[in-house]
Amino acid sequence: MSILSRIAQTKPTILVTGGAGYIGSHAVLALQQAGYGVVVLDNLVYGHREFVEDILQATLVVGDMNDRPMLDRLFATHAIAAVMHFAAYINVGESVTNPAKYYRNNVVGTLTLLEAMLAANIKKFVFSSTCATYGVPKTVPIPEEHPQDPINPYGVSKWMVEQILSDFDTAHELKSVCFRYFNACGADPEGRLGEDHHPETHLIPLVLQAALGIRDCIKVFGTDYPTPDGTCIRDYVHVVDLATAHVSGIEYLLNGGDSQAFNLGNGNGFSVREVIEVAKQVTEREIKVVECDRRPGDPPALVGSGDRARTILHWHPQYSDLSQIMAHAWNWHQKRHGNGVIG
Ligand code: UDP
Repeated sequence: MSILSRIAQTKPTILVTGGAGYIGSHAVLALQQAGYGVVVLDNLVYGHREFVEDILQATLVVGDMNDRPMLDRLFATHAIAAVMHFAAYINVGESVTNPAKYYRNNVVGTLTLLEAMLAANIKKFVFSSTCATYGVPKTVPIPEEHPQDPINPYGVSKWMVEQILSDFDTAHELKSVCFRYFNACGADPEGRLGEDHHPETHLIPLVLQAALGIRDCIKVFGTDYPTPDGTCIRDYVHVVDLATAHVSGIEYLLNGGDSQAFNLGNGNGFSVREVIEVAKQVTEREIKVVECDRRPGDPPALVGSGDRARTILHWHPQYSDLSQIMAHAWNWHQKRHGNGVIG
């Protein structure tokens, strides 16, 4: 029996879309640990059924957000107090070559979800947005007031939903919290959940797969950026810290909080070379590094100020140390791919 099934539900039930995915599954765990009931909606295109059914033991509805009758049935069957919305496509490169896929799922799907919520009189919404809505930053660390000027369809799709949410507040008093994440990373410290994307495009899992020998090498995309070591700088935020922020966001809305956007960043940047060095130290393995051209669309530095979340939501990130983040991710990747086979 999972330890989670022994935690009693003392709080309302939250619908978590994309709860079988990386950040969504950690948010489900955090909600359960805080005493909330959870229903997960996931189309399982990229999500992992076993995360929800075996590990989290939450109710799983398999379906697509664009299926309005399914949403109406879901809201009629379950007493949902608020929605946490993670379900989205996230591959920036693919969004450039296939924008319709991103607008249909990330924008139209979200609109369908919001309309179904209104029909069921559910008016609290926590949205998984992104620092990609800022585009190329003019100031670092980036505050929430920074102009939003996304440079790829993925970022535009998230920005559009933020605009829709602002209009839905005005028109329908639907209250929302938008979390603009910086670089989500790490894994459940107990190794129950972690990152497993197909295809994988993110730096930390790719470095760790190289350490495991699943990949030949790690490619460094660009060594001529205007940064101290020439490689891009990012703000790496532990997925458990993102998850606890989401629980605080739900509590804030359920307590009558007004619509608000929050950056979720640590305010500390690490370069690609620094991340690879930390991975070598934590794994104690050789990692072959190959320097390559820049990846199109990568801003030189993205670092976020999390001050607003700290002040208003009392968000206290627990795991801002990169070695610890890497150790949790390494533990997960060894468990997941221990035999050298992805999947
Ligand atoms: N990166 C890299 N090699 C890889 C994957 C990523 O050098 O194989 C770089 C990427 O160019 C960016 C940073 O690592 O500067 C973080 O990329 P990631 O895709 O993890 O997150 P993003 O910042 O794009 O959301």
